[in-house]
Amino acid sequence: MKPKLKEGTHFTQRSFPCDKCGASLVFCSDEGALRCQYCGETNRITPPKLPIYENDLDDALYRLERTKKVNLLDDMHAKCPSCGAGFDMDAHIRSTKCPFCATPVVTNLDIFMPLSPKSLLPFAINQKEAKVIFKKWVGNLWFAPNSLKKFTETDSRFNGIYLPYWTYDSQTHSDFRGQRGDTYYERVTRRVYVNGREEFVEDMEPRIEWTPVQGSVERHFDDVLIGATKTIPRKLVDALEPWDLENLENFDDQYLSGFESEVYQVALDDGFHYAKEYMSYEIREAVRHRIGGDRQKITDLKIYHDKSTFKYILLPIWTAHFKYNKKDFRFAINARSGQIKGERPYSKTKIFLAVALGLAILGTFFLAAEMENGMISQHFDQIHIRLDNF
Ligand SMILES: [Zn+2]
Ligand SMILES: [Zn+2]
Repeated sequence: MKPKLKEGTHFTQRSFPCDKCGASLVFCSDEGALRCQYCGETNRITPPKLPIYENDLDDALYRLERTKKVNLLDDMHAKCPSCGAGFDMDAHIRSTKCPFCATPVVTNLDIFMPLSPKSLLPFAINQKEAKVIFKKWVGNLWFAPNSLKKFTETDSRFNGIYLPYWTYDSQTHSDFRGQRGDTYYERVTRRVYVNGREEFVEDMEPRIEWTPVQGSVERHFDDVLIGATKTIPRKLVDALEPWDLENLENFDDQYLSGFESEVYQVALDDGFHYAKEYMSYEIREAVRHRIGGDRQKITDLKIYHDKSTFKYILLPIWTAHFKYNKKDFRFAINARSGQIKGERPYSKTKIFLAVALGLAILGTFFLAAEMENGMISQHFDQIHIRLDNF
């Protein structure tokens, strides 16, 4: 399908050829510059040193409401600026590599989107360093299959990608009603039997006194981060925080050269919905703190958002797929901090051996100590259940 073009605009692709030898330049994290893979020539990236602005959320949502019909396309047809081959790109991919000659290709896809990114964090960890991190992580995994360890020797499926994120700021005012519970102790007399004889003892029993409370809390939220990708599970994306957002650079498409990058697939208002859920959780904690006492009930909570702003940014990650027993496992590394998060396979053989060894040890231990009281069979049951779960 052809992209719906605004008048006078075309879906274009470009690469960044080296002035010296014509080969393509890719972003090099060691130098923070574009570098030629063949002759080593470097090109500084000099994005304008502008302050990175927060955008008014209400205003943007109002304008988006009116432009909602400008929608993207299933896939976009691209032409490699180096070898001229044509290929299709998924509609959410902004930059990639030519499937025929591997030239980094950066498109102008953002001009067809209602919003375009204004800032990003450049890659600070290169592919080699990412592999070292990955290898160390795999080395520390219990029960990882050997084929996973072998996978770390190859790098073909290590992919550097800029993911789209929304960040939201909001000034919140919340009115609440609730109950504060304070514990007090009441003296009670209890009847007990000692050696068959009836006796009365005095005891202190805890009770809770509830008092109605109401009030309000103010909270300011800064840069609540919501991943706007749908290609990588939210669980993985969220686990890569924190990000050093204080180091955001102004957007320049030269940073993308050599990496894949995505445009947002979670809409701005949906992203704010997730952000509000997170904020509401924090606000409830603040309300409980304000209510005080030993226990708290919140019966009514109204949250008002004011001066909400957002930024659309790109953050760099390394990812890899791994297939094991026909299942797909995925890993992601924060390419700023090196933080890694992954889904992981278990080796049934290794678990079996470990359990067998454990049984042997347990067996010796319990046979010696607890033969008669049925503890052994209990332990065996637990181990069987665990095996089934794997
Ligand atoms: Zn060159
Ligand atoms: Zn090509």
